[in-house]
Amino acid sequence: MFYVKEKVSPSLDVTVEIHDDNVFCTCPECGCEVEIDLAQLFSDGEGDLYGTSVFCRDCSKSKLEALRK
Ligand SMILES: [Zn+2]
Repeated sequence: MFYVKEKVSPSLDVTVEIHDDNVFCTCPECGCEVEIDLAQLFSDGEGDLYGTSVFCRDCSKSKLEALRK
């Protein structure tokens, strides 16, 4: 089991288990919330929690379409 731990105040820690359905990031294009599959994100061996951003489905689609033009 993996979890994140954050000290909210000197007397309070918040611990949240990481599952495949509770990890999110913000789409760098439109700012909406994107659900992340960490296993998939790191499956290429080059995952980087700081340097990686994930576009939402709509933005990925329009980016792909722009590339094809
Ligand atoms: Zn987006």
